[in-house]
Amino acid sequence: MDIPEFIFSILEKELLESHLQLLEKIADHYGFDIEEMKDLFLPKEPMKIVPQDVIKVQVKKCYKPRVPPPEEERCMARVWNHGLGGHCIRHRCNQTDYCRSHQKGLKYGRMDEPAPDVFRPPSMREGYHSNLR
Ligand SMILES: [Zn+2]
Repeated sequence: MDIPEFIFSILEKELLESHLQLLEKIADHYGFDIEEMKDLFLPKEPMKIVPQDVIKVQVKKCYKPRVPPPEEERCMARVWNHGLGGHCIRHRCNQTDYCRSHQKGLKYGRMDEPAPDVFRPPSMREGYHSNLR
């Protein structure tokens, strides 16, 4: 797929803008003359971004650290959390104890119930020792 030309113009503009911002920060911090800095360090020729090859671009969402709602408004579901277990951080909704996605079902139970076996190492799971005999 060809990337439209205007995308490169936007990137070029952003690149120059980011150069400029960095220069301004440095000039401000060290008390340098910004005009002299621009003259010395900004590229003399306009920058041009040229696609060379197949370009792979990944766009990532920048997640803000989420602040959980107060306990009385917080979904009661336990979540997987990379195997550590944790408390869902979404709001309850529809006058239930759960957020919209946990209304569909609880895979790991509720926070006010004991954690299910999957969060324990195998040797601590129910029936492990009797199964060894
Ligand atoms: Zn939830």
